[in-house]
Amino acid sequence: VTTTSISVLGSTGSIGTQTLEVVEAEPDRFEIVALGANSSVKELAAQAVRVRPQVVAIADADRAPELRELLPKGIEIEAGPTALASLATDADVVVNGVVGFAGLPVTMATLQAGRRLALANKESLIAAGPVVAQARRTPGAELVPVDSEHCAVHMCLRAGEGTRRLARIVLTASGGPFRGRSAHDLSTVSVEDALAHPTWSMGPKITVDSSTLMNKGLEVIEAHELFGADYDDIDVVVHPQSIVHSMAEFTDGATIAQLSMPDMRLPIAYALAYPDRIGTPFGRMDWTTPTELNFEPPDRATFRCLDLAYQAGRSGGTAPAWLSAANEVAVDAFLEGRIGWSAIAQVVDAALQRWSGAAAATLDDVLEADRGGRAAAAAVLANDEVNR
Ligand code: MG
Repeated sequence: VTTTSISVLGSTGSIGTQTLEVVEAEPDRFEIVALGANSSVKELAAQAVRVRPQVVAIADADRAPELRELLPKGIEIEAGPTALASLATDADVVVNGVVGFAGLPVTMATLQAGRRLALANKESLIAAGPVVAQARRTPGAELVPVDSEHCAVHMCLRAGEGTRRLARIVLTASGGPFRGRSAHDLSTVSVEDALAHPTWSMGPKITVDSSTLMNKGLEVIEAHELFGADYDDIDVVVHPQSIVHSMAEFTDGATIAQLSMPDMRLPIAYALAYPDRIGTPFGRMDWTTPTELNFEPPDRATFRCLDLAYQAGRSGGTAPAWLSAANEVAVDAFLEGRIGWSAIAQVVDAALQRWSGAAAATLDDVLEADRGGRAAAAAVLANDEVNR
């Protein structure tokens, strides 16, 4: 086995720290050559001491002097807003674990350099799908999803001989902490309640998105972009155990599923080692223990964000970018205690009604839609159009 060089961008977040664990489990196989983070200097420096990369990037240039102090000698520093994307050309595989729309430059730089992108940053694909699709056609460029559902679908499609006879993608959703609760019930939940995910441990933004089912809605758009499936052929089913990570149904009626315990290190390792598999098991099932698998349809009336995402996806153009941007603003407002949980869907809905209708032909179109979606959500919040 030859050594695969890896850049980990967004290295101090949940995906980044777990990527380091995967690499440390197979040190002969993987080598981290670059680490990058937005502003978490202490964590970034501690990681650099641990894995000794050639170069470390910090997006917040003001923190660069502090980083220099903490880094071992001989490690280069890149600083500033383009620093993370500048490391995309340094490795065989780039792990994009940046949170939110800020991950888009890393996605573009990696694909345009003809490298493999291990993509955990779903927002870049959702917001800029058509633009990312062009970059994916660069010779050598390859996108392997780290998002557990899409990684599962990727495996199911390989087992089912690709998309030629694919009938339907079924994305599973844990249902989040509020599964089974009524809309009335949910009008008073706290930030702490929303951050208490039953099966997955993730960052705050995606955990709130899981509680609203926006995360699943964004994943529907992500599946459409990744696998080219029609929205009518992408279903969501609630599966509280988070063991079946998603499924592919084929034209002969057969469904292929991927099962494992919820452990992000498995999809991370899959994306790093593809088309091979690593020798270290993460999330393996213990079938000697009685195991129940339950499935139920999502409550679309209570968790309105799911259908808002379908609506944006079907509208196409920059509607998904607009939706995702508005959602980031709404989630921030919720996390800061400015609005209640139920208002997140209201803000996104009202913002989506202000969508410009623009196409997503270029990166500028996407950046414009991102600004537009944020401004629309901010206006909805400022005008007090929602019930707090
Ligand atoms: Mg996911």
